Amino acid sequence: MRATCWMGKKKVSVEQVPEPQILNARDAIVRVTATTICGSDLHLYNGFMPTMQKGDILGHEFMGEVVALGKAVTNLKVGDRVVVPFAIACGNCESCQLENYSCCENSNPTGWMPEKLMGHATCGCFGYSHLTGGFAGGQAEYVRVPFADFGPLKVPSTLTDKQVLFLSDILPTAFMGAEFCEINPKKVICVFGAGPVGQLAVASARALGAEKIIVVDRVPYRLKMAVEKAGATDVINYEDHPLHETLLDMTAGRGPDAIIEAVGMEAHSTGAQYIVDKTKQKLKLSMDRPIAVRDAILGCRSGGIVSILGVYAGFVDKFPLGSLMNRGLTIKTGQCHVHRYHEKLLRMIEEGKIDASFVATHEMNLDDAPKGYDMFMRKQDDVQKIILRS
Ligand code: NAD
Ligand code: ZN
Ligand code: ZN
Repeated sequence: MRATCWMGKKKVSVEQVPEPQILNARDAIVRVTATTICGSDLHLYNGFMPTMQKGDILGHEFMGEVVALGKAVTNLKVGDRVVVPFAIACGNCESCQLENYSCCENSNPTGWMPEKLMGHATCGCFGYSHLTGGFAGGQAEYVRVPFADFGPLKVPSTLTDKQVLFLSDILPTAFMGAEFCEINPKKVICVFGAGPVGQLAVASARALGAEKIIVVDRVPYRLKMAVEKAGATDVINYEDHPLHETLLDMTAGRGPDAIIEAVGMEAHSTGAQYIVDKTKQKLKLSMDRPIAVRDAILGCRSGGIVSILGVYAGFVDKFPLGSLMNRGLTIKTGQCHVHRYHEKLLRMIEEGKIDASFVATHEMNLDDAPKGYDMFMRKQDDVQKIILRS
């Protein structure tokens, strides 16, 4: 089959690889009908996530048709149309029982690696390095789905791919980030990053009742979409206006009640600190560029909530612990517990209460995945989400 493979920094190619097989009784094989490139994939593409190996199959946001089932999977049948959560969860362990699915204790066969780096193992994820199990990803014609009796969500034929595909990752992620903010109509919510995750965080905050939503980015077409399609009320282009001062001006000097950080380890910024952060990351003195987290902590109202959705790999420099502690902030974060939100979000989509399809700006053939990665990284042609089909 054809699959998008990581071949080194800024190098992906579509290769012929063996088709996946059922290995365990709880496996399914899914023929991928639609998959996308996520901002998280850019962290792999740009070489910032450790433990990638040449030939690893990429992709963690996908949907498809069940074509084979292990003996223990009785809730699905061949032919079912399913959306698959990027985080692999067993459904049985203590973390899964607590609905902390991205902390599943059974799904990461290389859990010893995150144990060393992060103190404990994380869950397994599709196509997301050997820290998260080294599972083959979904930017391929077929994929093996472990714990298929628990993860995949059956989706009705009345909904289009664009309406349901993002249930695999960015819609529940964004919704979780908004839910973290304990929204009520009086609260000012701010979203850092107007990429696909940021856009859906705005839409989720709206759906949860937020009335004032400020979006921060530097890419004009993304800020425009945040207002015109997602429901933001105000935007700040941090290249044109000083971020901290502008946030204070917009909030009677207090700062937003909650800030959702949807940027991640490759944050950009202006000024000398950015050069220091970039150099440190390059020299591996700091694994991430924590610029957006830093700005979110410093910008958030005292007693407020900082909701971190952006992906980070390890240890960072100049973390404003003093501001966080002295001003009583709460940080909430995590890889999304995708399964937790599936039923609720599917219902909201069916009832027209949330619609993520507006972020799907491009469609390409799987063979053009290398072009898609380059385009998404460079933010060309007003790109947000690229849907790949084989
Ligand atoms: P993206 O790269 O398309 O978007 C990021 C946006 O942030 C860009 O528009 C960029 O211009 C903007 N940006 C850069 N520096 C900034 C700054 N200092 N302040 C404000 N904006 C800034 O990516 P995406 O697909 O929207 O994903 C965003 C992040 O969410 C990534 O780190 C991704 O890995 C992460 N993510 C996390 C989860 C999860 O489960 N927690 C799931 C999906 C994605
Ligand atoms: Zn993702
Ligand atoms: Zn589990």
